[in-house]
Amino acid sequence: MTSTANPDYKYYQKLEGTWKDVKGSCEAVLSRFAGIEIRYASGKLSSSYGVTDVMLSGQNRGGLMIGMMAAAYTIHDGEEIKINLNNRIVYEGDKTIYRVSEAWYGNEELHLEMMDLNDGHKEDVVLVRVKEDVPLAEGEFQCSCGYRGEARRFCPNCGKEII
Ligand SMILES: [Zn+2]
Repeated sequence: MTSTANPDYKYYQKLEGTWKDVKGSCEAVLSRFAGIEIRYASGKLSSSYGVTDVMLSGQNRGGLMIGMMAAAYTIHDGEEIKINLNNRIVYEGDKTIYRVSEAWYGNEELHLEMMDLNDGHKEDVVLVRVKEDVPLAEGEFQCSCGYRGEARRFCPNCGKEII
């Protein structure tokens, strides 16, 4: 779909990965080949996307509008990359339930503004990157309770014996 010759490739690389919100109601998976999949509530969206570097496109100050966009767009505080979804509709089966009205990245967070197509209200969803599994360091131990760090015979958090 996209090659390394694409000047936007570095943005796709930066955004690549799995993102989740704290409540666990939303998950977004972005690929470096400009694909995005979003799961929100009971719905799903699958699309390709484009990027706009708002730092390059002008002064990142409130009220700036990006001229090439069809509708006026106000850059959010801290916004670095604007994400332009080609398909913005979240489906539940064949029913349309949400529209992603805005999507952007800034300060290690992914922001999605979801418009409920039933009543028109908007929900701001903030997602953070799901950390890749980092291999354990020497002497480090990972317990099923979530504790990770040094331990001898027992987990210092839950007391489980280490085998
Ligand atoms: Zn434990």
